[in-house]
Amino acid sequence: MTAPRLDVHLDRIEHNTRTLVDRLAPKGIAVEAVTKAALGSPELAQAYLDGGAVGLADSRVANAERLRSAGVTAPITLIRSPMVSEAERVVRTCEVSANTEPGVIAALSTAATGAGWSHGILLMVELGDLREGILPQDLDVVARHVVNLPHVHLVGIGANLACRSGVIPDDANMGELSRLATATERSLGTVLRVVSGGNSANLVWALGAPDVGRIDRLRLGEALLLGCEPLERTPIEGLRTDAFSLVAEVIESKVKPVQPWGTLAQTAFGERPWVGAGGNAIQTIVALGRQDVDPADLAPPPGAVVAGSSSDHLVLVTDQVLQPGSELAFRPGYAALLRAMTSPFVATVLRHGETGAGRHPHLTAS
Ligand SMILES: *Cc1c(COP(=O)(O)O)cnc(C)c1O
Repeated sequence: MTAPRLDVHLDRIEHNTRTLVDRLAPKGIAVEAVTKAALGSPELAQAYLDGGAVGLADSRVANAERLRSAGVTAPITLIRSPMVSEAERVVRTCEVSANTEPGVIAALSTAATGAGWSHGILLMVELGDLREGILPQDLDVVARHVVNLPHVHLVGIGANLACRSGVIPDDANMGELSRLATATERSLGTVLRVVSGGNSANLVWALGAPDVGRIDRLRLGEALLLGCEPLERTPIEGLRTDAFSLVAEVIESKVKPVQPWGTLAQTAFGERPWVGAGGNAIQTIVALGRQDVDPADLAPPPGAVVAGSSSDHLVLVTDQVLQPGSELAFRPGYAALLRAMTSPFVATVLRHGETGAGRHPHLTAS
């Protein structure tokens, strides 16, 4: 079989989605499932929707377009602020987009007027993580701007924490989002349909809080895909953490000295070389490198330890000499998954059950 390849167990992702949808429903929170780590894969979207997600979300309009051209009709939210230059594509493809800039919202209004329909605006509020967001004291003015523009409507407000600075969602910042939702409704005399609390990093708070206030939506990617929460990367009880497996092929396996010899300078990637103890070890190379994956974010199989990597080689110390042509399976973290999914060298094999498999080469337009 082709290598390197990412085996994707869609049934496990569907299970993870259903499990979190069922746990969040009693709290009044619906799940919008994020497709960006898989280039907007329509098959992944279907697994999410089968698991009970109310809609899809992606950060790139190209991924949303891929979903649409595959016939996906579920609502899509663009969760990165549109570029002004892509306003028309956004309006054509996504029901809603996350926004922070009056100028971008004005461009969306113009594009939607041209298209003849109305585009939904989710205003993102800055709650301390210092990525995207309108400062809380400016929200009212921007919300007023939205309701006064033609062919856009305010669907709600949202926030994103943890991604840039690692700020933990808690009662204080989520309480502030709830208060802002109520204050905006009072001030504008309108109803906010969506209060989108955040990403997978919100799960620990959302599942544990006795009262989630106005939060009625989470945008989940990593937790559905990898079964863990991203603050400490702890597995979430009842979720599958084995939906992805990155399979690479052995191209060399020999007993070699552990210590490099000669005079040492920087490696190809500007690091100091890995220098182990003395003696010999079984050194195994698989045909996988930094063009394919983030090697620091790969869990190797039992009996193997990652010892180094370059663009195209992943060097392991293994407990036995392996035949060239044999395969090793790694468990990717989110960074490794993202890189593997976006590398044209890594094939994606979608599995719908324990046996059924369909092969989908990467980056082919569907
Ligand atoms: C990527 C992203 C998400 C999903 O994050 P996960 O940690 O994968 O759940 C949600 N919201 C925004 C704005 C994002 O950029």
